[in-house]
Amino acid sequence: MATLRKVAVTTSLFLALGCGAEAAPPAPEPPSAPVPTPPPAAPPPEVPRPADVHANELGQVPVLMYHRFVPDPDSVYERTADDFRAELERLADEDYVPVTTAQLTKGEFDIPAGKHPVVLTFDDGDPSVLTLGPDGEPLPGSAVRILLDVAAAHPGFTPVASFYVNADPFGGGDAGGRALHWMHRHGFEIGNHTLGHTNLRSAAAETAREDIARGDAMIRETVPGYEPVSIALPFGAHPRESGLELKGPGYEYDAALLVGANPAPSPYSAKFDSGAVPRIRSQAGDGDEAEYGSTVWLDRLEAEPETRYTSDGAPDVISYPSGRGSPAPPFAAAARPY
Ligand SMILES: [Zn+2]
Repeated sequence: MATLRKVAVTTSLFLALGCGAEAAPPAPEPPSAPVPTPPPAAPPPEVPRPADVHANELGQVPVLMYHRFVPDPDSVYERTADDFRAELERLADEDYVPVTTAQLTKGEFDIPAGKHPVVLTFDDGDPSVLTLGPDGEPLPGSAVRILLDVAAAHPGFTPVASFYVNADPFGGGDAGGRALHWMHRHGFEIGNHTLGHTNLRSAAAETAREDIARGDAMIRETVPGYEPVSIALPFGAHPRESGLELKGPGYEYDAALLVGANPAPSPYSAKFDSGAVPRIRSQAGDGDEAEYGSTVWLDRLEAEPETRYTSDGAPDVISYPSGRGSPAPPFAAAARPY
């Protein structure tokens, strides 16, 4: 009896399976035209191991600050065009890749393994930074033209930067409007520097809020559809009413930039404060306050490469040597110490 029952169970199992098979959808009709054999899939691009490129995505990022370019500088806010070209050549030779403030503060940038992000920022909308010629392209000798030329000569050195503007940027009027449009079309970031270059610390809160809002509105009206996401604080001064620099009537920013005087922490580090991102003034290695300037800081980052942000080439994870701390809590799931 036991054997028979087993046979019956087995038979019903086969039947059940048969029912399932019958219920399967019919095979699709073969296509009338012969399907060409797809080429073999390309192997995935090789990403080096983080240890091989000394990846450190908790390292520091230089955010460089430029103002204007003149043949004979007489203040720490001026540099020559040749100084600028030489600094860009140095950055390219030392494996830096420009990203924008917006990319940095979101932690959303994808640069190759072993490369270092750098942010190029330009305050005050000076015509020496960008003036368009009759052909609608940046004039030779302007900073943006130099950036494009250096990028063309150094594949991988992305020509992007962030520009912080006030009223009447880049000569004002039609020229200024065309300059902002050109920037937007070419992937540059336009940020707010307040309409009147107001010291937000000494101004009353209402005045501070209003000047930020007016600067923001000027950018949006000039480049319809564009939404600024960062502000450079004039003189690096925070308003006394904390937070109004980031959020107010008609504006909301991811980042506020300072004026001094050291590299920024990694955006994944708990030390990163998007409301107070430090910058480094572009400056020669000697002269007034050279210790806060770009030449001294780039020398230091080169001499102490373990302090510098070095990409792992994999944008979804955050690689760093074990024992160097850990990412801020929002990034914990992406942490890959090695
Ligand atoms: Zn300024």
